[in-house]
Amino acid sequence: ARADIGVTGLAVMGRNLARNFARKGHTVALHNRTQSRVDDLVKEFGDEGDFVPSTSLEEFVGSLKTPRTIVIMVKAGAGTDAVIDELTPLLDEGDILVDGGNAHFEDTRRREKDLREKGLNFVGAGISGGEVGALEGPSIMPGGSDEAYRTLGPILESAAAHVDGEPCCAHLGPDGAGHFVKMVHNGIEYADMQAIAEVYDVLSAAGFTAQEASDVFRRWNEGDLESFLVEITADVLAQVDAGTGRPLVELIRDEAEQKGTGRWTVQIALDLGVPAPVIGDAVFARSLSGDQELRGATGGVLVGPDRAMGDVDRDALVDDLGAALWCAKVMAYAQGLAMIRKASAEYDWDVDVATVARIWRDGCIIRARLLKQISDEYAGQNLPTLLVAPSIKDGLGERQEAWRRVVATAVTAGVPVPGLSGSLASYDTARATRLPAALVQGLRDDFGAHTYRRTDKEGSFHTLWSGDRSEVSAD
Ligand code: NDP
Repeated sequence: ARADIGVTGLAVMGRNLARNFARKGHTVALHNRTQSRVDDLVKEFGDEGDFVPSTSLEEFVGSLKTPRTIVIMVKAGAGTDAVIDELTPLLDEGDILVDGGNAHFEDTRRREKDLREKGLNFVGAGISGGEVGALEGPSIMPGGSDEAYRTLGPILESAAAHVDGEPCCAHLGPDGAGHFVKMVHNGIEYADMQAIAEVYDVLSAAGFTAQEASDVFRRWNEGDLESFLVEITADVLAQVDAGTGRPLVELIRDEAEQKGTGRWTVQIALDLGVPAPVIGDAVFARSLSGDQELRGATGGVLVGPDRAMGDVDRDALVDDLGAALWCAKVMAYAQGLAMIRKASAEYDWDVDVATVARIWRDGCIIRARLLKQISDEYAGQNLPTLLVAPSIKDGLGERQEAWRRVVATAVTAGVPVPGLSGSLASYDTARATRLPAALVQGLRDDFGAHTYRRTDKEGSFHTLWSGDRSEVSAD
């Protein structure tokens, strides 16, 4: 047995991760349910490093040094369970199984517990960066035991992206912590993409061509908004369809699909009681875009402004939109990081938010200059929310007027901006010293005797709404 690490599941992600390990000097055992993927990898890329191909799981397991380290990169869900069931009887105590797929963190908790009882280490590791990242250096978010990380960590860290010599990979906490963080990463990604798309929509309504909008994003990518998503937005907007000569973006059907991690983020935010409306709006915006029945019935039928913006000062609009996009991004990060903080307390994970921000700086889809700022802000201090980090608070303060102008312009023209406007509402809610929740609680007391607390004295109270309307103590 000579392989340092094995990869089973050699579709786009697994294949590139296996090549990445091999390029870093590790001997990599290869396995896939359908043999051709193993053979193709060795044929096409065999000279990139030291691969040990196998034709069966037994052979694969036998080719690994002990304790064995195996990365599973198969279709998340039933595929992962099937592979674990087949592998388990072939493994020995202390071996390490890593699930690099997009698993639900509750599944990871269940699998980790089952395998721990069998003496095996199970590590749920979120991996972000897509196909290219898997090959050239992704951001890796592993959970699992300290013991497993001692063996696994150095290999994963060698394959991860690096910033200033630091790997974008760190042990985040036990069992499902890594997959939870990856899920939130994807939720933030949804919100980020939604805000970007809305900014493009406002630019279009203001008369910018796709190429002009591309130029705007390209310029922004040299400043505060520098990020992978802004960079590829410039690329996608500049793409011209070969057949028609028109911008490709104008020919793509306006239905955004989803695989599920955004939806999970919102479901879990509700379960944890952490407000994440900015992520929620982005997920709902995708489902609305795909609701053909609704849009078929209402599109072009409901009355409202026709998106015309009249004479706009284009340079001023671009500046305002850049500010609004930065703010919407910050609100998404703030809500996502709040979820991680809450889940960490709830599940006893002890996740360090500064570490999360640090390993998101590069390699992953949401990598951005802003993350360097966020990780610097969290370093050495335990913030109750990102929003009060000094440079973030000031950044929002400086930009909030522009943010409001963008929302007002879009709303007046009838351009839907749930991400930009919802995030502003979240900001104003966070700023408020008094909320109309007082009235909500009053109504709850009226119809359901749910009681309320007062600002001027201790205790719980109820008003006899259907009686003489006097107040009684409810303690
Ligand atoms: P897919 O999700 O398309 O999965 C295909 C792979 O799973 C193939 O190797 C396939 O084997 C294997 N597989 C499926 N079902 C089974 C089963 N029952 N038993 C054994 N093997 C099975 O591949 P991707 O490379 O796109 O993704 C792999 C994982 O990484 C997924 O969990 C995905 O969510 C996650 N991920 C993907 C990203 C991406 O950009 N694509 C980014 C980040 C994470 P066979 O060849 O025999 O069909």
